[in-house]
Amino acid sequence: MTLRVGVIGTGMIGQDHIRRLTKVLQDVEVVAVSDIDQARASQAAPAGAEVFDTPQALIRADMVEAVVICSWGAAHEEQLLDCIAAGKPVFCEKPMVTSEAAALKVIEAEVALGRRLIQVGFMRRFDADYRNLKAVIDEGYLGAPLMYRSVHRNASVPEGLYTSEMPLNDTLVHDADISRWLLSDEIVGVEVRIPKRSSRGGELRDPTLVLLRMASGVIVDVEISVNIDYGYDIRGEVSCENGVAALPNRPATVISDRHGIRQRIPVDWRERFIEAYDQEFREWIAAARDGGATGPSAWDGYVSTLTADAALRAVTSGHYEAVNTISKPALYEA
Ligand code: NAP
Repeated sequence: MTLRVGVIGTGMIGQDHIRRLTKVLQDVEVVAVSDIDQARASQAAPAGAEVFDTPQALIRADMVEAVVICSWGAAHEEQLLDCIAAGKPVFCEKPMVTSEAAALKVIEAEVALGRRLIQVGFMRRFDADYRNLKAVIDEGYLGAPLMYRSVHRNASVPEGLYTSEMPLNDTLVHDADISRWLLSDEIVGVEVRIPKRSSRGGELRDPTLVLLRMASGVIVDVEISVNIDYGYDIRGEVSCENGVAALPNRPATVISDRHGIRQRIPVDWRERFIEAYDQEFREWIAAARDGGATGPSAWDGYVSTLTADAALRAVTSGHYEAVNTISKPALYEA
């Protein structure tokens, strides 16, 4: 049975997800789109899809069985609450929301409904390299994890649109989520260190070094560099009691020319995580067809938002800032 999906937000990632839902994946059809910019929505709409004036109208439409939210983070709260009110499964790009208060409202609404409808777009959990790394840690022969180094590098970000807060409230959420998942641990506090500023980013505070303190005592250090020019480079290395496990350097064709012998580096997230996004949606489609969700939950979205908030406070205070969650509702227990 084909899942009829409506996509809200037809910018960069919205268009990429429409491509995969239309051309790559089975058992799914994009029947509706909506964007603040109607012209962009019309351009991005696949043949036969209806263009809606507002996200609310799309969510309520009978033809839409499930929703994909790819709008900007600050718009997610209202759209998620509308999906819950309509009882429709929803895939929401990260960040789930942009404040603790918004995250709590979303959790409260989903808990009141009594079943999971929300899946948050933390695609690293669906990436084969991260899944292999987690399997090694979970097998236990390297002993307990002690430290995890997470590196997040973008070639560049749009000047003016990407602010100094965004490494923490838009980018760190990925590293926070993958640390909790990979280490089966919880974040209890955050410190931030600001090194020498790169001259490539103008006024942008870049790079940023974040230390996440986990409940077990493991420390995660996260390098976020968003203007590093050479490409999109995501790394991860877990130091354990008896050894080290790391993500591989992705195999790619070896190029030899007058600059030397080298391998190409992905240009951006679309290229590096192309299979992970496909797998993320394969699993979401199966769950949404059963009326639910799988993988990263609204709880995971909430914890990442709290971590981002604490990191932003830590920039100002210069100190360790605690991450204090409410007690976890039974709905989100594995
Ligand atoms: P983008 O290119 O700016 O696209 C966002 C689109 O949503 C724009 O067309 C925007 O219109 C539209 N929009 C904003 N608010 C809306 C609303 N209330 N209703 C309907 N449409 C709305 O940004 P993007 O790079 O695609 O990012 C979108 C989301 O995906 C962000 O939350 C971002 O963090 C996330 N993302 C995730 C990943 C990942 O690795 N998982 C990668 C990239 C992006 P205007 O431009 O007119 O505001």
